[in-house]
Amino acid sequence: MSAIATNLQAVRTRIAAAASAAGRTPESITLLAVSKTKPLADVLAAAAAGQTAFGENYVQEGCEKAAATVDLHLEWHFIGPLQSNKTRLVAEHFAWVHSVDRLKIAERLSAQRPTDLPPLQVCVQVNVSGEASKSGCTPAEALALCQAVAALPQLRLRGLMAIPEPADDAAAQRAPLRQLREIYESIRAAGLPLDTLSMGMTHDLEAAIAEGATIVRVGTAIFGERNYT
Ligand SMILES: *Cc1c(COP(=O)(O)O)cnc(C)c1O
Repeated sequence: MSAIATNLQAVRTRIAAAASAAGRTPESITLLAVSKTKPLADVLAAAAAGQTAFGENYVQEGCEKAAATVDLHLEWHFIGPLQSNKTRLVAEHFAWVHSVDRLKIAERLSAQRPTDLPPLQVCVQVNVSGEASKSGCTPAEALALCQAVAALPQLRLRGLMAIPEPADDAAAQRAPLRQLREIYESIRAAGLPLDTLSMGMTHDLEAAIAEGATIVRVGTAIFGERNYT
């Protein structure tokens, strides 16, 4: 078995244990393998081990990997910051975008989504408390942005995404995850049929599953540490 196959099995075991502890089924949680900065060979190794959903943060890199693997029918998710001059490439190559944080980006993605493809599946990124990043709409803006995204023809609004700051203890990890779930529930209560909570990474996937994550985005635990130099 390749190291990546072994790592994937370990992550699936973590997900199953966390699901069981939360009284949930493992099937209610999708594992997104975050392959940013990693070579195509690593994607192929994960695909050979049965992984189908992959996440990328950088437009060019993600488009190249998606184009190189069309025959494998993998599902590509864009999860990084998105500038308006890059929306067309994302609309053409990805099945999902988790990082929509303003209406202008959503409008461009909808207008540029090729009509022979299914609608682009979209999460609105929310900047929950304690995040250092500038990405994400504010919690107060989330409902109105979701309503506007839901009205766009070539997008299908699925849910919310957040990237909380790393924290060591479980209580500190859970607070922002719970905040995202509460925003999610309030938007559902307002009548939007959301079904996706994209939260949880290598260090906090158990806390995220306890708080209701339906997609966990895991890079390091599958592919190893990233080297940015
Ligand atoms: C890099 C990244 C991940 C994966 O993080 P790990 O800690 O390596 O699991 C998940 N989500 C987003 C948005 C990322 O940028």
